[in-house]
Amino acid sequence: MPAESQKKSPQKFDRRGLLAGSAGAAGLLLLGTWGSAEGEPHLVRPPGSVSPEGFLARCLRCDRCRSVCHTNVIGAGKLSDGILALRTPVMDFRLGFCDFCEKCAEVCPTGAIAAFDPETAKIGLAEVTDSCIALRTGACTKCHEACPYEAIDLDPRNRPIVNAEKCNGCGKCELICPSHVYQSWRGEAERGIVVRPLSAASSNEEGGSK
Ligand code: SF4
Ligand code: SF4
Ligand code: SF4
Repeated sequence: MPAESQKKSPQKFDRRGLLAGSAGAAGLLLLGTWGSAEGEPHLVRPPGSVSPEGFLARCLRCDRCRSVCHTNVIGAGKLSDGILALRTPVMDFRLGFCDFCEKCAEVCPTGAIAAFDPETAKIGLAEVTDSCIALRTGACTKCHEACPYEAIDLDPRNRPIVNAEKCNGCGKCELICPSHVYQSWRGEAERGIVVRPLSAASSNEEGGSK
């Protein structure tokens, strides 16, 4: 065979490379959408929820917890949260806040949301964000006034400071924060105070205790 004919056709090589590249990109895209092996620890779950990876394994996406929640604080996981988290219960503090009524744990058939002690359960931890009106003007104390657990102090310039010991992540501060109303021109997605998930290290593998 002439040496010339053993050379790869540039056109064939390019096509094969393109196909391989497309498959790789599709795989990466799928992996990214599929979700993380740690079980989406960035999502805030209802009180009593087991560890993030355990939660995805146990949750049936049956919607019982969302249906029974009287404050409507439980939303549904979106595709952007990862395919595995789709339709799983995710706390959405723009819809409501949690009063630790225990109903979601009572109806969960799998123990994804386990029984918990309302006095000690923690959902997450509130964090003041760059959208907070008081950071710039000191003119808003809404979250300080609304917190049922007196977990938000004010500094001398009226800026909120979250007490991590007292905050249980109920989300009332995020619900009532008016930053999105007064600062809609800034186009901020986050409110001036938001509840972040507790770290995976402090999550409760066996759920809460009673
Ligand atoms: S404890 Fe009650 S208020 Fe809180 S998420 Fe569960 S059902 Fe909703
Ligand atoms: S009740 Fe339990 S199993 Fe059903 S969607 Fe809620 S967490 Fe998942
Ligand atoms: S989430 Fe907000 S309202 Fe609830 S305890 Fe923490 S600081 Fe207070």
